[in-house]
Amino acid sequence: MKDHDAGNDHVAIDGPVSSGKTTNAQLLAAQTGHLYLDTGAMYRAVAFLALTNGVDLDNESGLVAMLGHHAIAIIPDPDTTPGYRVMIDGKNTGERLFDPDVAAAVSTVAALPAIRAELVARQRAIAAAGPVVMAGRDIGTVVLPDARFKFFLTASVDERARRRHAEFQMRGIDVSFEDVRAQIAERDRLDSTRTHSPLRAAPDAVTIDSTDMLPEDVVAKMRAVMEAARA
Ligand code: C5P
Repeated sequence: MKDHDAGNDHVAIDGPVSSGKTTNAQLLAAQTGHLYLDTGAMYRAVAFLALTNGVDLDNESGLVAMLGHHAIAIIPDPDTTPGYRVMIDGKNTGERLFDPDVAAAVSTVAALPAIRAELVARQRAIAAAGPVVMAGRDIGTVVLPDARFKFFLTASVDERARRRHAEFQMRGIDVSFEDVRAQIAERDRLDSTRTHSPLRAAPDAVTIDSTDMLPEDVVAKMRAVMEAARA
């Protein structure tokens, strides 16, 4: 067993933008007692730092050097919407990491192998400490290929755009449905076609299409799969 297996009770949840990973992973972790980790937050933190430090999004060595000068910590906090706080250099980033400018930058930095290597090492270190529900794009394929449970969440582009647009509206961010839809489609394209760790269902993942499902139903389905495997 590898270090990051931690008894191999990990749950890997992958899927495209706004496929329900965050909500469902958070709900599932609350029910099972696993730690919940949204790896997208780590890539968003790097994109945010690149924007605030004026480092070009494709300047791989510059971005890695930049990371050496900043402390990124993800602190579980069920009272927040995403279920955690991202602290950069001790300051809470709040909802800033979910702003459209960070969303537009994140897939470019996430395509860089040196950035991925650094963040995957951090994700595995967290998994080595205990069972996690880890959400992302490459968890079942690359980060925790031996995870006991693997799910791949999908939903139609229109439904995902509707969800993300509603989130922006609730926060008072004025962006059109068409623009949100176009940005989601573009991030899907970049995430799926990149050379390193592209968005992909692991061959042994259970795919769940959440287009017409409530989060409670998605989680119930996941738990049924997990219980059947444990029986
Ligand atoms: O999940 P979320 O939409 O917050 O992820 C933001 C971006 O981070 C994704 O579009 C993707 O480019 C990148 N990402 C990744 N690998 C992960 C998680 C996120 O490349 N495991």
